[in-house]
Amino acid sequence: MHPTNIRVSIVQLRNNIIAIKKHIKSHVKICLPVKANAYGHGLIGVAQHTYDLVDYFAVSCLDEGYLLRKNSITKPILVFGAFDEDQIIDLILNNLEITISSLYKAQLVSIFAEKLGKKCKIHIKIDTGMRRVGLRPESLDALINFVKTSQFIELVGVYSHFASSDDIATDFTLEQINVFDGVVKKLKLEYPNLIVHLANSGGVCYYPTSHYDMVRPGLLSYGYFPSVIVEHGVLSEIKPCFELITKVVYFKTVFKDNGISYNHTYMTSSQTRIATIPIGYGDGYRRALSNKAVVLIRGNYYPVVGSICMDLSMIDLGCNGESYVGDEVVLIGRQEDLEIKLSDLASLMETIVYEVLVGFNERIPRIYITEKKNYVWTNL
Ligand SMILES: *Cc1c(COP(=O)(O)O)cnc(C)c1O
Repeated sequence: MHPTNIRVSIVQLRNNIIAIKKHIKSHVKICLPVKANAYGHGLIGVAQHTYDLVDYFAVSCLDEGYLLRKNSITKPILVFGAFDEDQIIDLILNNLEITISSLYKAQLVSIFAEKLGKKCKIHIKIDTGMRRVGLRPESLDALINFVKTSQFIELVGVYSHFASSDDIATDFTLEQINVFDGVVKKLKLEYPNLIVHLANSGGVCYYPTSHYDMVRPGLLSYGYFPSVIVEHGVLSEIKPCFELITKVVYFKTVFKDNGISYNHTYMTSSQTRIATIPIGYGDGYRRALSNKAVVLIRGNYYPVVGSICMDLSMIDLGCNGESYVGDEVVLIGRQEDLEIKLSDLASLMETIVYEVLVGFNERIPRIYITEKKNYVWTNL
């Protein structure tokens, strides 16, 4: 086993989803976004360990949906992303539910589905203010008229996406809910079984009128709040389930006034002990953390010094710091009563938790810690 690994607490991940389920009304379905390797937590591991709790999985592209199907995930899978004409056959053959944002794409899908003699399930996406992909509300009638004529398209859902649901100080989210509401009220009369969905994590936390028939919380399911931490009620049980751990693989004494790592961006001010750990920006431990991050060894914080390399990083233990090869090093998570939060690392890098999480790549094995404490690991 590679000494660097990501530990995902399945107990906590499941508790997060259970808390969200308690927070939403009982008829509201839950769709778990597992795009971008399940926000770094591992696509297959997360899907397998949450399978019984969710109604839907969501991915961003064909390849992610294909991997889920390959690994026997038979639940409905919605593909959020825009697709290319070349991908339509495989989307249909893998029984993936496609996002439709234009009449043109609906017509293409219908043609391919007819060729395959297979119905294709679609969700129509409305642009209510994100201005990314999505149909303008005024174009909906034409699309619906086409969908009615196609025997190879099955309309199962309609959705939209928030632009700033993490910002509770603006009214823009309420405006988006308003626009969406106008569109879906009409549709629901004609299609009473339609799954109407809008809420991402921000919607789930801060906008109860956005829950409709299904919610799609990604970040929140993995244990992070989009902005304001909800400290009361059932959502207050939500916590991160992700830890990044490695081991000391080498250490040496370095004399005063010596430079450490590439370009000597750190100079020792006195004789000190430098530990080396087997993780670097090639794993997603970003170079922007050089001379900024700290790690936990033997219950103490120590700084990451010098430039983070592709595969290795250096830690300054100080002249009296004790550590030996094989010691556990916590880069994200808890050791004894101290903690390094992923959100603090994100702040150090002036970015968001999302970007840090998805940056940890498949070189780092994921270990799933279940209630029975049996560790299962996979790189996906
Ligand atoms: C990624 C995504 C989500 C989940 O967003 P979070 O902010 O992680 O909750 C929901 N809906 C769509 C369309 C997405 O692309």
